[in-house]
Amino acid sequence: MPDLSMIEKKLRDIIGDKYVSSELCDRLVYSKDYSIEGIADDYTPDIIVKPGTADEVAEVVKIANQMNVPIYTWGGGTSMSGNPLAVEHGIVLDMKRLNQVLEVDPDNLTITAQAGTTIENIYNAALDKGVFFAHHPESSLSSTIGGALSCMGISIYGAKYGYVYDQVLALEVILSDGQKIKIGGKSYLSLPTHNLLNLFLGAEGTLGIITEAILKVYPKPPKRDRVSYGFSDITTAIEACKQAHAAGCWPETVFLFDRRSLVQYMERAKTPIPDEVSMAVLFGASGNSEMVGTTLKVISKCSEEQGGSRLPSDLTQSWWNSINIGKDTFDQSNFALSHTEYEPDLVDACVPLSKFQEYSDFCDELKKEFGWVDIDFGAFIVGGPRGPIPFCIYFSVPIDTRIKAEIDKWFQFKERMYRRALEMGGSLSNANGLGLRSSPWVKDQLGPAWNLLVDLKSLLDPKNILNRGNRGFSS
Ligand SMILES: Cc1cc2nc3c(=O)[nH]c(=O)nc-3n(C[C@H](O)[C@H](O)[C@H](O)COP(=O)(O)OP(=O)(O)OC[C@H]3O[C@@H](n4cnc5c(N)ncnc54)[C@H](O)[C@@H]3O)c2cc1C
Repeated sequence: MPDLSMIEKKLRDIIGDKYVSSELCDRLVYSKDYSIEGIADDYTPDIIVKPGTADEVAEVVKIANQMNVPIYTWGGGTSMSGNPLAVEHGIVLDMKRLNQVLEVDPDNLTITAQAGTTIENIYNAALDKGVFFAHHPESSLSSTIGGALSCMGISIYGAKYGYVYDQVLALEVILSDGQKIKIGGKSYLSLPTHNLLNLFLGAEGTLGIITEAILKVYPKPPKRDRVSYGFSDITTAIEACKQAHAAGCWPETVFLFDRRSLVQYMERAKTPIPDEVSMAVLFGASGNSEMVGTTLKVISKCSEEQGGSRLPSDLTQSWWNSINIGKDTFDQSNFALSHTEYEPDLVDACVPLSKFQEYSDFCDELKKEFGWVDIDFGAFIVGGPRGPIPFCIYFSVPIDTRIKAEIDKWFQFKERMYRRALEMGGSLSNANGLGLRSSPWVKDQLGPAWNLLVDLKSLLDPKNILNRGNRGFSS
């Protein structure tokens, strides 16, 4: 058992009293994220530390390494999978003081930011200089760029611009021995053949701590517009997306929601949803007027050929408002306030495009088996960069999370859903990382490649101090 008071003293000597705490009220703040997993056990850390520079991060890591105490990197704490939680207690390293946009460079189409900067601040700093940062999750007001890169986040603009990892040109990372490394640069191709950046992207804080990133920005699109279409089922909705893709359209937003998800998202706006709609697709286009007009015209044609009916423009606007959450738009958003009755949770699985309907049908059957027949589960799909790739079912969890037996039942349901996704050739995470939620099955997904990952973890973090006990790495 490490001597916590000695560790705290060492941390105070380096970071200063103001930014180190072992008070219970401070520690409790960091004992939960947004996951159901987070309420199933006690993950209260022993010490909170808030470094203000990359060098201070390195010093904290050196102390953790010397004293063999686990260290958990914390961005905005908006994770829905339990991945920043102090599974084995120890130190929580809060990154939010590293919150500066260091440079916006419109000539080279780059933006450089410290890892604790919120996505919203990066997004707005880019716009202020006339360029556009394409990663904009619904959690952009609170989630940090370090957290997003560590979870492989998706954006409301992802259908055209890709995942957050597609935006990265360079990283500064602190390794588990306190060494600082830099990978990449401002050039759009500044890596030798092995892409070492990928080691740290989606690693959920287990291989190193990201302290700075150089990211891509794009010319700000002069115009944006959207349409939405209602369909009778998933298959026709996806066919419309595929036809639009085949026609050469690159919409920036493609969200497919079932009726239940639309109702949840529209709850506060009370926007009526036509009775015949069981599946709906929101398409967004960007570019000059001609490009936007043509894109939406072709999408409309493809949708109507599949029997889709155009939804009223106030519904389209209300839907967009509910997913486009920022400082200026927060008041119009319905999403954050819509879940009053139950805890929200996700099955964040990804299945191949041709399996969407089958996976959704499996979910319906499983609900019956678990006795949840009267409860509507929402399902939504977010279009990825190469067409509508991920499949992510969002639920309002139909359980009372104060009752352990109910949480256990919910976990059994999720296990069956994740296992089925793997059987279908899918994956355990779409955008939220594995964390505590889906890491129990990561070995099944990776097979022998799991051993390679364990070897890499041992090489980069021999004492297993970084997010110890999380993401499937045993303690
Ligand atoms: C209401 C709501 C809406 C959401 N919408 C979206 C969405 O649209 N798209 C999406 O992708 N996600 C979404 N999420 C999930 C979540 O916001 C993302 O996963 C987010 O990117 C996490 O960022 P964070 O800063 O909050 O990280 P945290 O939750 O603090 O941490 C997440 C993981 O990253 C690690 N980490 C954090 N910072 C660093 C760092 N500097 N270096 C190394 N590791 C680090 C942590 O250790 C942990 O493993 C949503 C969540 C909520 C609650």
